Amino acid sequence: MDSLRRTEGRGERSAIILPQRTLLVLCGSAGAGKSTFARKLIEAHKEQGFQPTMIVSSDHCRALVCDDENNQQVNRDSFDLFHYIIHKRMFHGHFTIADSTALKPEARLRLLELAQRHNYYHCLLIFNIPPLVCLQRDQGRPRFVGEQVIAYHTGLLQQTLLDAPNEGWEQIRVLEDEKDITITVTVD
Ligand code: GDP
Ligand code: MG
Repeated sequence: MDSLRRTEGRGERSAIILPQRTLLVLCGSAGAGKSTFARKLIEAHKEQGFQPTMIVSSDHCRALVCDDENNQQVNRDSFDLFHYIIHKRMFHGHFTIADSTALKPEARLRLLELAQRHNYYHCLLIFNIPPLVCLQRDQGRPRFVGEQVIAYHTGLLQQTLLDAPNEGWEQIRVLEDEKDITITVTVD
């Protein structure tokens, strides 16, 4: 595994080259900018045929089962669907972005094991964004999660930064700022 590399935001951009058979796991607090990053990545690879359907979002799965992206009562069913779609996409060999907070070790392990089962390359992208920035971004959304959730996520993020290097990921990148990183996906 690559060592845990930080992109410190000193103006250098870090490039990641990923094979098509990759599960790219986004990880970070609500409001960190994960979904925005995923959409921009798809946009940047549009000419290579990338589609928004490459993003599997736990919030979207929540909406699919109960019409409400923020309803935590349906977490179990939402994540069943989330993992099922990811599993099916990998079964068919498609590049997949898992868009969820992935801040709990068991959540990351589940995704890692799924990728391993399909012989997929697995890359964890950790959004190390200051809680105040997450909060500001969260408050700018029509449906926000609020200060308590972001404080809780911030604690989990600190633990994730310590734990992730020992979890078995083939590659881990830590983003301090979305502009730190460029991702290129090679088409097999
Ligand atoms: P997520 O909860 O991690 O998926 O965060 P989102 O991608 O939904 O972003 C939360 C809010 O922050 C949205 O309103 C985005 O438009 C905004 N946002 C995301 N990334 C950036 C960024 O890099 N800069 C700024 N200024 N706003 C961002
Ligand atoms: Mg999101």
